[in-house]
Amino acid sequence: MPDFIPTRAIFEQKALDYPLGEQLYDRLTGMGIPITFAASHNRITGIPGKNPQQAYREAKRTLVVGVRKSTAFAACKPSAHYQLPLNTSCPGMCEYCYLNTTLGKKPYLRVYVNIEDILQTARQYITEREPEITVFEGAAVSDPIPTEYLTGLLKTTIDFFGRTDNGRFRFVTKFTDIDSLLDIKHGGHTRFRFSINAAEVIRNYEHLTPGMVERIGAAAKAAAAGYPLGFIIAPIVAFDGWQDGYRRMFSELAKQLPIKARVDLTFELITHRFTPRAKSNILDIFPDTSLPLEESTRKFKFGQFGYGKYIYEKPLMEEIKGFMNQQVNNYFPEAVVNYFV
Ligand code: SF4
Repeated sequence: MPDFIPTRAIFEQKALDYPLGEQLYDRLTGMGIPITFAASHNRITGIPGKNPQQAYREAKRTLVVGVRKSTAFAACKPSAHYQLPLNTSCPGMCEYCYLNTTLGKKPYLRVYVNIEDILQTARQYITEREPEITVFEGAAVSDPIPTEYLTGLLKTTIDFFGRTDNGRFRFVTKFTDIDSLLDIKHGGHTRFRFSINAAEVIRNYEHLTPGMVERIGAAAKAAAAGYPLGFIIAPIVAFDGWQDGYRRMFSELAKQLPIKARVDLTFELITHRFTPRAKSNILDIFPDTSLPLEESTRKFKFGQFGYGKYIYEKPLMEEIKGFMNQQVNNYFPEAVVNYFV
């Protein structure tokens, strides 16, 4: 059973001019999914919902098939040079999803069918920076796995980067439907990252996503297929008993990951934080959330883009940092912690 079966699909008319657009049209029609058309993938109407919760839920069941027009890629500092635009949003319902703030009230899933144009642009960016390596991030505004069984966009992209000398690709997922990516000649040029968390956090806040053990199982498969692996542990939540929860997560990693995954392994560690805007969006969509969003227990930190965020107080931050580093060193002494924030 796929991670995502759309309730409805909306096609930009021009999408049918591309082979992938046609292929998706036939496939979705065959699956009995109602299809309508829109003039632009940026102006989508007709997603039902009488209140913010319903609108959000219905958007997460809607697939928009479009053509990416802009040829410029957004920057993606510090983890990569550029975002690679393949798709947006995902069917998950994580209460703290960073896309709740950036994708608006109706975060429908969108896939781009002009993949050849997109990769051609990537090729130009790579050429401009040669002989330096250029890194592209494929999950800056989406989780790309749930629609992969329909589009094959990641497969095409991983194959493309496998054949470039100076281009590298990376993406991150919380999903597990990855078998179609295991036999690609990736050349070690794609870093397969998984977003994981303590089972308690996933259960409470990451609705409609696979559990901790399943995600680590998928990571083990990716590692067995020779992909360099990475884990984003985010957000690290200091719930009651958090040390035990995260200890169990590391112990599961140690149990499942093959030996060869441990040599070239990265961790990105992000503690829970929220902006005033994110808090208000979360409360709109998840009014009964149990997410700890009490400002008085936090430290306010001004951000570089003019907005501030609430992070954990310094002593707790230090404690989490020490604990996480110790776990990584203990289980994976050869791994690199890219950053802790
Ligand atoms: S899986 Fe990722 S992109 Fe999807 S809702 Fe959760 S945090 Fe957002």
